[in-house]
Amino acid sequence: MAIVGRTMAALLSVELKQKADALRAELAGALREYGRLIYSNSLGAEAMVLTDVIWSHLPAIEVFSIDTGRLHEETYELLEKLQRRYQRRVRLVYPDAQALETLVAAQGVNGFYNSLDARLDCCRIRKVEPFKRAIAGFPAWVTGVRREQSADRALGQHREWDTQHGLYKVSPLLEWSEADVWQYIRAHRLPYNPLHDRQFPSIGCSPCTRAVQPGESRRAGRWWWEQSESRECGLHPRVLPVALPA
Ligand code: SF4
Repeated sequence: MAIVGRTMAALLSVELKQKADALRAELAGALREYGRLIYSNSLGAEAMVLTDVIWSHLPAIEVFSIDTGRLHEETYELLEKLQRRYQRRVRLVYPDAQALETLVAAQGVNGFYNSLDARLDCCRIRKVEPFKRAIAGFPAWVTGVRREQSADRALGQHREWDTQHGLYKVSPLLEWSEADVWQYIRAHRLPYNPLHDRQFPSIGCSPCTRAVQPGESRRAGRWWWEQSESRECGLHPRVLPVALPA
């Protein structure tokens, strides 16, 4: 196994090997500083890198995913593959059943298409509230956002105070390019969502995600019927970050 590990590592460029080492060191440092860390696993391509680093080297970092109930079948299959590969279970967090019943009774099962408010209500109940429950009591959470992904994410800091959720946010992949992520996935032969091979660079809930066309931004397939300014689910607030002192 160690020989396989060395062979795979040799497939990484020197620059990416340094980035991977820095990623591991950053997470280890955050774990030492905060004592407890929780990773919100999106099951996207970046999540394959972070899951590999965390479950291979830093298993004390807790990992959860939100099952909104509207994920693609390919995402559930990926979850199973991940769990088989690492012999670990991702903790799945679900929307509150009563809140979901009330939402669907009010707006219908696909009511999120009707207005931005309806869509944000759905994201709040299926994603934001379960997220808040999962991170409650932790001093810091880990996210896989990268600067390239959007203008808002370009403003992120590696460690910043998350004013919306009241804990620190650690973003160790900020400087990684999309090519870095895929080089790491291929070198380590990690599982990934096959939708990525069908022009889905960003994958969320099935009814709210579609393939992007050539020339479109990587998040153009998320809530494609909305104006681009509104396309976040509420987990990454649109406020200027508060950087920590060096
Ligand atoms: S992405 Fe769509 S289905 Fe998923 S929580 Fe948001 S509005 Fe609801």
